Amino acid sequence: MNLRREIAKLIAKWQPILELDHWVIQVIFGKTSDETRPAECLPWREMQRAKITFNLEHKEWSDPILRELFVVHELLHCVSAAWAGEIEDVISNNVSEELQDEVRKRVNFPEEKYTCDLARILWSLKRK
Ligand SMILES: [Zn+2]
Repeated sequence: MNLRREIAKLIAKWQPILELDHWVIQVIFGKTSDETRPAECLPWREMQRAKITFNLEHKEWSDPILRELFVVHELLHCVSAAWAGEIEDVISNNVSEELQDEVRKRVNFPEEKYTCDLARILWSLKRK
């Protein structure tokens, strides 16, 4: 199956599972802002919209399991947008400006790790 169509099908499969039915997910195929990443998600929680960019140049996309895990991972960023927004508020209101980027980086790492773990767990539950 065509890769783009398959990604669209995976999004349609996982959106209701993750209770993102009402979200409008804009899908873009192209370069991610950090080119080392196969995909990235920019969620706007208040509007229930997200823009997900898939960089299909990454060779991991040829693996069907990774493909589904990546889609789940990016959609999970919409789920976590609620508390990620609060963390951002805490940082921008309480951390001095020169330290904000460093704090964001440190928060981003565990958030990414957590998102990867959760995607894997949900994916394996859904297989049973
Ligand atoms: Zn991520």
